[in-house]
Amino acid sequence: MASFQNLNLNKQLSSAIEDLGFEKPTPIQEQAYPVISSGKNVVGIAQTGTGKTLAYMLPILNWLPFSKQIKPRVLVVVPTRELVIQVVEQIELFAKYKTLRVLGVYGGVNIKTQKAAVAQGCDIVVATPGRLYDLAASRALQLQSIAKLIIDEVDVMLDLGFRFQLTNIFELLPNKRQNLMFSATMTEDVNQLIDDFFITPSKISIAVSGTPLDNISQTCFTVKNFYTKVNLLVHLLKNKEEFGKVLLFIDSKKNADRLFSALEQDFWSELGVIHSNKSQNNRIATIERFNDGVSRILIATDIIARGLDLDNITHVINFDTPVYPENYMHRIGRTGRAEKKGKSILLFTEEENTHKIGIENLMDFKIPEIEFPIDVEVSKELTPDEMPVMIEKNPHKKKTRVAGPSFHEKKEKNKIENKVNLGGGAKIKLKKAKKYKKPISRGDKTQNRKKKR
Ligand code: ADP
Ligand code: MG
Repeated sequence: MASFQNLNLNKQLSSAIEDLGFEKPTPIQEQAYPVISSGKNVVGIAQTGTGKTLAYMLPILNWLPFSKQIKPRVLVVVPTRELVIQVVEQIELFAKYKTLRVLGVYGGVNIKTQKAAVAQGCDIVVATPGRLYDLAASRALQLQSIAKLIIDEVDVMLDLGFRFQLTNIFELLPNKRQNLMFSATMTEDVNQLIDDFFITPSKISIAVSGTPLDNISQTCFTVKNFYTKVNLLVHLLKNKEEFGKVLLFIDSKKNADRLFSALEQDFWSELGVIHSNKSQNNRIATIERFNDGVSRILIATDIIARGLDLDNITHVINFDTPVYPENYMHRIGRTGRAEKKGKSILLFTEEENTHKIGIENLMDFKIPEIEFPIDVEVSKELTPDEMPVMIEKNPHKKKTRVAGPSFHEKKEKNKIENKVNLGGGAKIKLKKAKKYKKPISRGDKTQNRKKKR
């Protein structure tokens, strides 16, 4: 059985854990501990609220020797200032009996005060990417002694557009260091970052546990392509009584907008779309309309939906099949909450079948398939992503797409552009809102707590 004793923690650390009343390590803590302690690069994926902070801090605090040096040895990068504050508080609790200096730095406050604090010296710095870079670039903060780099909430970080800042920071760090990345979901962006910067990390992935699968009746349809999926959706969603409150998941912002345009004609008055390119105000208003029942259908991307507190969803529809099975679990877990019955529908193409099998393996459950309704039209129209790729003989031109139904595409494109063109001023506001908004994971935490009760 899992126990903190098995981890051979030093006295100071085990006393602090005892004071906190933690009885045993969570799965991510138990599995990450030996791998991190061995000095390997680690990517840890586990649901929000599963104790990831302690999962990376436990081995680090157990290792970190006392020192009076000015330059920090551990760097924790998080996406928002609220998280800086939260992580600093948590570290202080864990390190209660250790002589240790933890410093949190983030934007939006006077940089001079923070420079003065940095000059005092510290062991662990917890920072947001922007302010960290400013402090490091001005040489107020020296990063040459960083032996451990932790990037927490990587998925949120990348979704907020911090990739560029992160790569700038990597350049200021010594090459010989241990890298730890933690995330609630595995996304293509996260995978790309790992590929580009992390040498052979060990991946520790904890399957979503305690998902109330029994409350959710799952079904799936094999569907030919994007616009056939749209036709099937229109067919299903016309049944307003059955489909009372529908959360529609889709993989990208681009596809979310594409789907919105395609459904607009039939459902414009009861349709909403939410993703990270929408302004904070727009997002809040959209969610309110959905929660109040003004709109019946909400299109959302994975990351954005994670922080949402949504009640009484009758159906979660997976417009596409998540590449990472954990994401399917996150998605369908949005319905069937608090003992209520929920339904989930997965739409998959032949290409997506392997992802579906991955999901079924994770759940150890085969999703019952419903036959494609004969009265739904199979569309021949293709999205740009679905068009076949032609390899040309000319070696300077690698790929060319076969010309498709361009007239329709243009129309779609114009529609989308009209919707997101916010003008210069609005764009600046949007940036600010992104920078200073609350951590996306907040809502998730409260939900997790609710679930436990
Ligand atoms: P995550 O980063 O995975 O979202 P956190 O690290 O913020 O999760 O931890 C969530 C909550 O669980 C915190 O309040 C933390 O104090 C608590 N916690 C962490 N580890 C344990 C444990 N082993 N036993 C009980 N509670 C824990
Ligand atoms: Mg966390």
